[in-house]
Amino acid sequence: MSHAAAFAPPVAPNGGRLLLGLDKAELTATLADIGLEPFRAKQVWHWLYYRGVTDFADMTTLAKTVRARLAETFSIVRPDVMRHQQSTDGTQKFLLKMADGQAVETVHIPESDRGTLCVSSQVGCTLTCRFCHTGTQPLVRNLGAVEIVGQILHARDVLGEWPKPGEQQRMGEDRSLTNIVMMGMGEPLYNYDEVAKALRIVMDGEGIAISKRRITLSTSGVVPLINRLGAELGVNLAVSLHAVTDELRDHIMPINRKYPIADLLEACRTYPAANNARRITFEYVMLKGINDTPAEARRLVNLLRPIPSKINLIPFNPWPGSEYEVSDEATIRTFAEILEQAGYPTPIRKTRGDDILAACGQLRSDSERKRRTLA
Ligand code: SAH
Ligand code: SF4
Repeated sequence: MSHAAAFAPPVAPNGGRLLLGLDKAELTATLADIGLEPFRAKQVWHWLYYRGVTDFADMTTLAKTVRARLAETFSIVRPDVMRHQQSTDGTQKFLLKMADGQAVETVHIPESDRGTLCVSSQVGCTLTCRFCHTGTQPLVRNLGAVEIVGQILHARDVLGEWPKPGEQQRMGEDRSLTNIVMMGMGEPLYNYDEVAKALRIVMDGEGIAISKRRITLSTSGVVPLINRLGAELGVNLAVSLHAVTDELRDHIMPINRKYPIADLLEACRTYPAANNARRITFEYVMLKGINDTPAEARRLVNLLRPIPSKINLIPFNPWPGSEYEVSDEATIRTFAEILEQAGYPTPIRKTRGDDILAACGQLRSDSERKRRTLA
């Protein structure tokens, strides 16, 4: 199984070094390079992640000469927006272009009690799950922390989340962006270091301050990194299970050949950040005639017994050329009832942003096709 190319820090459009995406220690060291003391790094952090400024000139606690110096040396630009679509249900989808021309998608889903941002971790995905459109994208590379954080900064810009001068930052349900799910393009655990760095920036109490309890990382099952994720970051875990036998899971999710179901579930059972109040979400895509029988639901009940679990049934989203169909509504309901009766909360995921293809598994940048057309 090949891994994606690493993120190579690009030169920013103004020729400056990138300042976003550095952790606090790196920011302090980078600013020390031009003679700024650690308390300056603290101030810059505040402007970048608490106030969300995009121009050094607005960092008014710094002397004008310092601001000018920063602007000559560094860049704090956001990703370029290639496309912005808004669904009739309020869901927004952004196609964001990175410095090397590659693009990723980010989706904001507003609900009555929360607003969730679905964030990408890679351009494309090296895994090739048979039901997933992202896995068919030919070009793959890891995103850098700057590009992962950039998706969140951009969403906060659009949603008007930054406090205005003199205002305190809104918290909890007063925000439009309350939750983050690493469920966009890519396998986040195949880009562990950059994802972890980005999430630490987003969780930092002196900045965006989104709690680990409001962040969920979804993995197809990179077993060796699951416990590390729980111990180091403590975020919620979601696991794309989708099948209850190795035979079927080998077929629809090739990663299962490396990390079979028993190993995956053992890593979940010992996940440090889960308990009955913070359950692991098992995602299960409903594929007609493939994985949707009552017998499979009962087997799922047995498999998950040792784990604090909830199950998210996802009606399959077809895409052009996909080989599967979505299970019938009645089949999905029966499947859900078996799990509910066994004590597992089992919401059936509503399709959101249908009209702009914002749903899971449909995220696939078309920049590659466009580039070919231009060539
Ligand atoms: N790579 C990670 C995270 C991104 S995918 C993972 O696989 O978990 C987010 C969720 O959407 C996963 O559960 C994935 O299996 C599911 N998904 C992918 N394609 C889908 C499709 N066409 N219809 C419904 N769900 C899909
Ligand atoms: Fe990659 Fe997840 Fe899609 Fe599988 S389901 S191809 S791991 S993005």
